[in-house]
Amino acid sequence: AQESLAGGISSSSRLTSTGPHPYPLYMVSGSGARIRDVDGNEYVDYLLSYGSAVLGHAHPELTEALTAVLHTGTMFGTCNTPEVELAELICDMVPGAELVRFANSGSEAVQGAVRAARGYTGRSKILKFEGHYHGWSDTLAISNRPGAPEAGPYAAPHAVPHSPGIPAGIVDDVVVCPWNDAVALRALLDAHRGELAAVICEPIVANNACTMPAPGYLDLLREECTARGIVLIFDEVCTGFRTGPGGAQALFGVVPDLAVYSKALGGGLPIAAFAGQRHVMEPLAQGHVKHGGTYNASPLCATSALVSLRHLNQPGVTKRIDESGRRLMEAIRRAAHDRRIPCSVQGVGAMFQTVFTADGTPTRQYRDLLHTDQARYHAFRHELLKRGIHTNAYGMACWFVAATVTEDDLDATCEAVTEAFGV
Ligand code: PMP
Repeated sequence: AQESLAGGISSSSRLTSTGPHPYPLYMVSGSGARIRDVDGNEYVDYLLSYGSAVLGHAHPELTEALTAVLHTGTMFGTCNTPEVELAELICDMVPGAELVRFANSGSEAVQGAVRAARGYTGRSKILKFEGHYHGWSDTLAISNRPGAPEAGPYAAPHAVPHSPGIPAGIVDDVVVCPWNDAVALRALLDAHRGELAAVICEPIVANNACTMPAPGYLDLLREECTARGIVLIFDEVCTGFRTGPGGAQALFGVVPDLAVYSKALGGGLPIAAFAGQRHVMEPLAQGHVKHGGTYNASPLCATSALVSLRHLNQPGVTKRIDESGRRLMEAIRRAAHDRRIPCSVQGVGAMFQTVFTADGTPTRQYRDLLHTDQARYHAFRHELLKRGIHTNAYGMACWFVAATVTEDDLDATCEAVTEAFGV
């Protein structure tokens, strides 16, 4: 039915974005981990609104709380109780969070964290890693996806290739380093001694195949940043509150100076935050560094975030998400192995990706991704779609697992995976 739909309403002359491969999907309702399209087809959803709907869709607690706010009024511009409670809760859950500032999207919160780091250090340069994605701000939109025009060599950081239309000067302050490479990191830190405000990374590279940090690599970042007075920023837009109540910093036991949150934070509504050490956030708190936004932590979004975090903070909730995902990871590994298909299933249970590397070994760096079989991912995804399993359309992003995924959903997914590999 979706194939015929693609011919019917595949695009609009008014909308500037296009529907993703292999054809546009128009979803009309959702409940728990399931979503339904206009033709009545049902899918187990592992895109989850790009990972935001961590509780699944139309969660009753969320619906009730948000309806109450809509009835009471959504005034903002003055202080509101949900944002205060939310800031307290974030500091309770996240090891390194002492002060919090809110924003509307991951991109904005990253920009706020970068600004806080620049304000605190009085320096301007930022070191980021190849293939790590930090949103569509002009400075950090160098996402280095395979085949993207902005992908470029790390050896010439000053010659950072620009996205089309971005003038050179703007991205000149960004130094790009290969991931999981201690030698290159030290060389770049030395080359830019005294100039770097921040080092920013995705602790698990959710936007490039869920590449994991090599053992000790995050500790190395922590040590080097501390020794050089550089602010370490973890972009936890994907990992935050999902890989466990304390996110990646609790998972890996490495506390950054600042961390950025969105997605699971809002439970499906647009809200983001950056949070971190008091001394780094203090210039912002004092107003010496500015950051603002009309809708930041509006009562509706802050309430959604409170419900989402309170749910995720209950004992056993993120553990179950992780276990559900690990069951899928194992089933995919087994099915691929049985069919002799080289496939690396990488990440953690709550977020993982199936990566078709040449010999099934996990990716360590962005350059490994250049040799993965993207066509195979898309074919696999298409077979899953036909069997009622919805995964992301951009092979390098990940499967996100909902807190409300059921045993039936997981059984159906395991079965579909086995079949899809058999085609
Ligand atoms: N950082 C990371 C790690 C992300 O995954 C994303 C979004 N996928 C962003 C930043 C940007 O967030 P947003 O799309 O909400 O601006």
